[in-house]
Amino acid sequence: MVRNGIHHVTAIAGKARQNLDFYTRTLGLRLVKKTVNFDDPGAYHFYYGDEAGSPGTILTFFPWEHAAPGRAGSGELQETVFRVPLASIGYWTARLAAQGVQRGGRFGETLLTFRDPDGMRLALVGLPGIEAEPAWDNGEIPVEHAIRGFHSVSLLISDAARTGAILSDVFGFAAAGREGETHRFQAEGTAVGGIVDLRVAAGVGPARLGRGSVHHLAFRAADDAAEFAMVRRLAENHGLQTTEQKDRDYFRSVYFREPGHVLFEIATDVPGFAVNEPLASLGSALKLPRFLEGHRAEIEAALPALA
Ligand code: ZN
Repeated sequence: MVRNGIHHVTAIAGKARQNLDFYTRTLGLRLVKKTVNFDDPGAYHFYYGDEAGSPGTILTFFPWEHAAPGRAGSGELQETVFRVPLASIGYWTARLAAQGVQRGGRFGETLLTFRDPDGMRLALVGLPGIEAEPAWDNGEIPVEHAIRGFHSVSLLISDAARTGAILSDVFGFAAAGREGETHRFQAEGTAVGGIVDLRVAAGVGPARLGRGSVHHLAFRAADDAAEFAMVRRLAENHGLQTTEQKDRDYFRSVYFREPGHVLFEIATDVPGFAVNEPLASLGSALKLPRFLEGHRAEIEAALPALA
């Protein structure tokens, strides 16, 4: 079975509690893992997704209470787009009124664009025929309207050629049309998280990372063998080196900066979020990597309050 497409998107937030409220209540995603930033255990790392945290549905955040706002620009992931049923566009237009939602279109699809409380650019695409797909019930949003994973992401870069070549040659995407300066790439047979749009912007200054910015974009690899095959292709065909593989507990990852300066990750589908918590209670307990478990008491005392 081919498994291509987006694995997850990781962004930077400000206040943890505000982030948790917005994504689990306003957008109705499931908190599938509550852990800490492995490199900075004084901060949370939240993972939101569908019921199981399936690849292609996972948006993650490093909330830093006092993070300075990011600045939009070239060399970053500019917009993260979720799928909702087409018939739910009216529901979401009303629900997101306070977020300054605007209706538009792209590649013939109906699009609602808005911002999260930290200014991160988000959108919903209304798609026909997805009502029957399973969705997470957050107890507040009628399940027929619920988000069904990622539709796409848009990268703002100065030149699409080399990034597009990597999407096609390494990650299983194919060129799927162009609208103005936006080049669409689609992973064949991947309904959820299967689209990357490359927006070419000449003369735009570089993005500065901060609150509301996306930190990196992760692509799927079925397992370690698939990941290492991608690493070899990057080196042999594109002259790019990745980091060594890092164990993120729920997937195993390598990282590299693509030619448009966006940080890319390759993450395995295995082992997934149910590796250390039952599916029914995902996200309810603070999970720490083994190397931090001995410091649990200090870590819990230092993390910001969520209620
Ligand atoms: Zn990641």
